[in-house]
Amino acid sequence: MSDTLLTARGIRKAFGDHEVLRGVDLDVRRGQVVALIGPSGSGKTTMLRSLNGLETPSAGTLEVSGGPALDFSRPVTQRERHALRDRSAMVFQQHNLFPHMTVLQNVMEGPVQVRRVPRAQAQQRALELLDRVGLADKRDAYPRQLSGGQQQRVGIVRALALSPDLLLFDEPTSALDPELVGEVLTVMKELAEEGWTMVVVTHELSFARAVADEVLFLDGGVVLERGAPAQIFSAPREERTRQFLHRLL
Ligand code: ADP
Repeated sequence: MSDTLLTARGIRKAFGDHEVLRGVDLDVRRGQVVALIGPSGSGKTTMLRSLNGLETPSAGTLEVSGGPALDFSRPVTQRERHALRDRSAMVFQQHNLFPHMTVLQNVMEGPVQVRRVPRAQAQQRALELLDRVGLADKRDAYPRQLSGGQQQRVGIVRALALSPDLLLFDEPTSALDPELVGEVLTVMKELAEEGWTMVVVTHELSFARAVADEVLFLDGGVVLERGAPAQIFSAPREERTRQFLHRLL
């Protein structure tokens, strides 16, 4: 039996006449952590957003195991888009918590409103997850009463509460003060160790190196190089990869 969770082939996306993705392939196996790295504007976020229907590619195919196989060369139905969206949960650069809701309400909102989970069950699960990231005592706090790192940990819990097959992270630490980055990366590392399947857009190269099973280096809307972190970081084949790493490491 194949343990492939996601298969994307030839993903293209243009905004007007600007072609941002020019044929990206991606395979994600269950339990795997894939990191997307590359210069700003290379298409990392657009690729990530394409994986859960926040962006609709202009061409290519995408299949998340058990769901419909989408072919973007024809119109995608609302039903297909929802089926895709329901398989994953995204953690954004900014947490996007509802400011007028408590931490607990924020975490319960998706399961109750979108997934129709009974309230009592959603609450129990939310409290377990908050406990797991050390925020059980913040259940009744409002987002503004939390640090940026705590808010982002709630953002992660909110994604986990949807019980997705796939977790998508869009530069989850880039809006944080440097001293708050570690606590968020620690949670992400624990999730990886627990076996969550994750695709992570990140500038945190040491995190990618330590946690990812596979690293894709995007440049100009194509995957210029892909491989195990040890290979990409220690022995990049492409000059562009070398230059990029040299600037950041
Ligand atoms: P990265 O995540 O690698 O920085 P992005 O995927 O965010 O790259 O963006 C790639 C390019 O696509 C950028 O030039 C960006 O300005 C452009 N882009 C992204 N989203 C939109 C949009 N909604 N409309 C127009 N251009 C966009």
